[in-house]
Amino acid sequence: MTDSTRRIFFMRSLAAGCAIAAAVPRLAHAAGHVEETDDIAVALGYRHDTHLVDQKKYPNHTEQQQCSGCSFFQGAPADAWSGCAMFGRKQVAATGWCSAWAKKPG
Ligand code: SF4
Repeated sequence: MTDSTRRIFFMRSLAAGCAIAAAVPRLAHAAGHVEETDDIAVALGYRHDTHLVDQKKYPNHTEQQQCSGCSFFQGAPADAWSGCAMFGRKQVAATGWCSAWAKKPG
Protein backbone atom coordinates (compact mmCIF):
# COMPACT_ATOMS: atom_id res chain seq x y z
CA MET A 1 0.00 0.00 0.00
CA THR A 2 1.48 3.36 -1.02
CA ASP A 3 1.43 6.37 1.28
CA SER A 4 -1.22 7.97 -0.93
CA THR A 5 -3.44 4.88 -0.87
CA ARG A 6 -2.95 4.54 2.88
CA ARG A 7 -3.92 8.18 3.39
CA ILE A 8 -7.07 7.84 1.27
CA PHE A 9 -8.02 4.69 3.17
CA PHE A 10 -7.44 6.46 6.50
CA MET A 11 -9.50 9.50 5.45
CA ARG A 12 -12.39 7.38 4.19
CA SER A 13 -12.40 5.22 7.31
CA LEU A 14 -12.27 8.29 9.49
CA ALA A 15 -15.09 9.99 7.60
CA ALA A 16 -17.27 6.87 7.72
CA GLY A 17 -16.76 6.44 11.45
CA CYS A 18 -17.37 10.07 12.17
CA ALA A 19 -20.46 10.21 9.95
CA ILE A 20 -22.02 7.44 12.00
CA ALA A 21 -21.23 9.25 15.23
CA ALA A 22 -22.56 12.52 13.81
CA ALA A 23 -25.86 10.81 13.04
CA VAL A 24 -26.60 10.74 16.76
CA PRO A 25 -27.42 14.40 17.51
CA ARG A 26 -27.55 13.99 21.28
CA LEU A 27 -23.99 12.63 21.34
CA ALA A 28 -22.77 15.28 18.93
CA HIS A 29 -24.13 18.03 21.15
CA ALA A 30 -22.58 16.60 24.31
CA ALA A 31 -19.01 16.24 23.09
CA GLY A 32 -17.85 19.87 22.89
CA HIS A 33 -15.15 21.39 20.75
CA VAL A 34 -12.27 19.69 19.01
CA GLU A 35 -8.91 20.37 20.66
CA GLU A 36 -6.00 21.05 18.32
CA THR A 37 -4.07 18.49 20.35
CA ASP A 38 -6.58 15.68 19.77
CA ASP A 39 -4.99 12.79 17.85
CA ILE A 40 -7.27 13.18 14.83
CA ALA A 41 -6.79 16.95 14.80
CA VAL A 42 -3.01 16.54 14.81
CA ALA A 43 -3.19 13.90 12.06
CA LEU A 44 -5.27 16.24 9.88
CA GLY A 45 -3.35 19.42 10.75
CA TYR A 46 -6.50 21.01 12.19
CA ARG A 47 -6.26 24.57 13.53
CA HIS A 48 -9.07 26.68 14.98
CA ASP A 49 -7.79 29.64 12.93
CA THR A 50 -6.98 29.05 9.26
CA HIS A 51 -4.43 31.87 9.43
CA LEU A 52 -2.30 29.74 11.77
CA VAL A 53 -1.95 26.73 9.45
CA ASP A 54 1.62 25.66 8.75
CA GLN A 55 1.95 26.75 5.13
CA LYS A 56 5.20 24.83 4.63
CA LYS A 57 3.57 21.58 5.74
CA TYR A 58 0.35 22.27 3.78
CA PRO A 59 1.41 24.22 0.67
CA ASN A 60 -2.03 23.84 -0.98
CA HIS A 61 -3.74 25.61 1.92
CA THR A 62 -4.98 29.15 1.37
CA GLU A 63 -6.34 31.55 3.98
CA GLN A 64 -9.63 31.66 2.07
CA GLN A 65 -10.15 28.00 2.99
CA GLN A 66 -12.11 27.82 6.23
CA CYS A 67 -14.35 25.19 7.82
CA SER A 68 -17.42 27.34 7.11
CA GLY A 69 -16.73 26.89 3.39
CA CYS A 70 -15.97 23.18 3.58
CA SER A 71 -18.40 20.49 2.42
CA PHE A 72 -17.88 18.59 5.70
CA PHE A 73 -19.02 21.55 7.88
CA GLN A 74 -22.52 20.77 9.17
CA GLY A 75 -23.52 24.19 10.46
CA ALA A 76 -25.15 27.26 8.99
CA PRO A 77 -22.83 29.95 7.55
CA ALA A 78 -23.30 32.12 10.68
CA ASP A 79 -22.48 29.33 13.18
CA ALA A 80 -19.19 29.91 15.01
CA TRP A 81 -18.85 26.18 15.77
CA SER A 82 -20.45 23.12 14.25
CA GLY A 83 -20.10 19.43 13.69
CA CYS A 84 -17.82 18.10 10.98
CA ALA A 85 -17.96 14.70 9.34
CA MET A 86 -14.25 14.22 10.07
CA PHE A 87 -14.61 14.82 13.79
CA GLY A 88 -18.03 13.29 14.42
CA ARG A 89 -19.02 14.10 17.98
CA LYS A 90 -16.89 17.19 18.39
CA GLN A 91 -17.40 20.62 16.88
CA VAL A 92 -14.91 22.57 14.77
CA ALA A 93 -14.52 26.33 14.49
CA ALA A 94 -16.06 28.04 11.45
CA THR A 95 -12.72 29.83 11.08
CA GLY A 96 -10.78 26.57 11.28
CA TRP A 97 -9.12 24.37 8.70
CA CYS A 98 -7.74 20.86 8.27
CA SER A 99 -6.08 18.97 5.44
CA ALA A 100 -9.38 17.28 4.51
CA TRP A 101 -10.84 20.65 3.47
CA ALA A 102 -13.07 20.31 0.41
CA LYS A 103 -14.85 23.29 -1.13
CA LYS A 104 -18.56 23.38 -0.42
CA PRO A 105 -20.45 23.06 -3.70
CA GLY A 106 -22.17 26.13 -5.07
FE1 SF4 B 1 -13.96 19.58 8.98
FE2 SF4 B 1 -13.61 20.71 6.61
FE3 SF4 B 1 -12.98 22.02 8.81
FE4 SF4 B 1 -11.51 19.94 8.06
S1 SF4 B 1 -11.73 21.88 6.95
S2 SF4 B 1 -12.21 20.38 10.12
S3 SF4 B 1 -13.06 18.61 7.16
S4 SF4 B 1 -15.04 21.37 8.22
